[in-house]
Amino acid sequence: MTDKSDPFMPEVRGNLKYSCIGCKERYDIFDFIYTCPSCRSLLRIENTAFDELKKIPAGTWRDIFDGRRNSNVLEIQGVFRFHELILPIIPLSDIIYLGEGNTPIVRANPELSAWLGTPFFVKNDGFNPSASFKDRGMASAISFLNHAIRVKDLKGVLGICASTGDTSAAAALYLSYLPRDRVKAVVLLPQGKVTPQQLSQPLGSGATVIEMPGVFDDCMRVVEQLAQDYHVFLLNSKNPVRILGQKSYAYEIAQQLGWDTEGLTVVVPIGNAGNITAVMDGFVDLFELGIIAELPVILGVQSEHADPVSRWRATGTFSPMKVTPSVAQAAMIGDPVSFPKVRQLVQNHFSDRFFVISVSETEIMEGMLTANRHGHVVCTQGGESAAGLKKALKNGLIPRGRNYVVDSTSHHLKFSSFQERYFDDSFAPEYGITTREELKNRPVKLSGDPQEIADFLGLRRKG
Ligand SMILES: *Cc1c(COP(=O)(O)O)cnc(C)c1O
Ligand SMILES: [Zn+2]
Repeated sequence: MTDKSDPFMPEVRGNLKYSCIGCKERYDIFDFIYTCPSCRSLLRIENTAFDELKKIPAGTWRDIFDGRRNSNVLEIQGVFRFHELILPIIPLSDIIYLGEGNTPIVRANPELSAWLGTPFFVKNDGFNPSASFKDRGMASAISFLNHAIRVKDLKGVLGICASTGDTSAAAALYLSYLPRDRVKAVVLLPQGKVTPQQLSQPLGSGATVIEMPGVFDDCMRVVEQLAQDYHVFLLNSKNPVRILGQKSYAYEIAQQLGWDTEGLTVVVPIGNAGNITAVMDGFVDLFELGIIAELPVILGVQSEHADPVSRWRATGTFSPMKVTPSVAQAAMIGDPVSFPKVRQLVQNHFSDRFFVISVSETEIMEGMLTANRHGHVVCTQGGESAAGLKKALKNGLIPRGRNYVVDSTSHHLKFSSFQERYFDDSFAPEYGITTREELKNRPVKLSGDPQEIADFLGLRRKG
């Protein structure tokens, strides 16, 4: 360790390579490539010195990570608490920490647990700086970029992404922290398919915001083309450096449960499939180091309006689909880029513990509204996760477990426009949403006269 007085401080170590998931060829991490130049498959990042980490006893790892939780060093407050498992090649001084990670696990109250069919926890990634889990991956991608700028003296870097809203918010935020003369931010959004709050975020961070017709899949094709033909730094989860940081969601769950993952089920909404890839990857790391004794069951959830992964799990065949409008708009993706990684992880590690369920738009809204009426602040994708767990338990799709953790991937406020439409009954027919009066709520307009308010509330006079 660099600082002998503090055994918990990370040191620079390891050797990271891009590794092709198809032909297994390895490439230099500073090549800035996003698909294999020889076979076009996706890349993952491999620490070729991972076996060195296995020499450290599992108990020591747990002590290190638990010790860092009590540290005041800012750079290891967030996802880099797990430095060795994320980007061990960069020094602490290159880490960009904006407050991401370390998000709370909240116990569902008795009424909500009864509604869902089991006690469970919500791990709310809405409590991140740009209010979604995307900040985890952006912290690793932008810290890596910051490191590369310094060691390679890069100038005029263009950070670019396609987005359903939250990737662009996170990318714009983290890029805006780097020197303007070195880095600029561009985000591509499908016009009208991100919420007003999400649109305000990259604008507020000073990024160039390009709106184009179509859906996310169309924007993604454009940035893939740009990343292939021009010098840009791709910030979608196709860039495997994003996946590294997002693994921290799994590490944190394990740590928050005292490293006891026996009988654990983790419920994750699937869009482009980067997040579920990272969550599985993260648990595999912990399992391989002996830090946890068992891999959890993973339950992916998709809307019936965008459920290619669910259809693959049900039928055995994967085919991209054309999406129709979904309130889980951040996951409204018909051709998930990371699907080949999911398939490989399932084959290699999760074959008996990976399930995917589709839920209706009405179920998603009811999941969000019901959770939030019982003390949560979950987004539509969090509602989707909750609805998926409820349905999977009812149908007997997943084995009964001991602990259930539901991923709410962003903050309620980003998606409050869907709540508004529910309350006003103003959803377009394509959503196919049936509303229920008891889940609606509206402001009551009164004059401000105490007597009138007391009468309205039916208050009993004192004495
Ligand atoms: C991006 C996003 C998703 C989907 O995650 P993928 O990695 O694309 O599968 C789900 N929920 C929210 C809030 C998101 O921003
Ligand atoms: Zn290859």
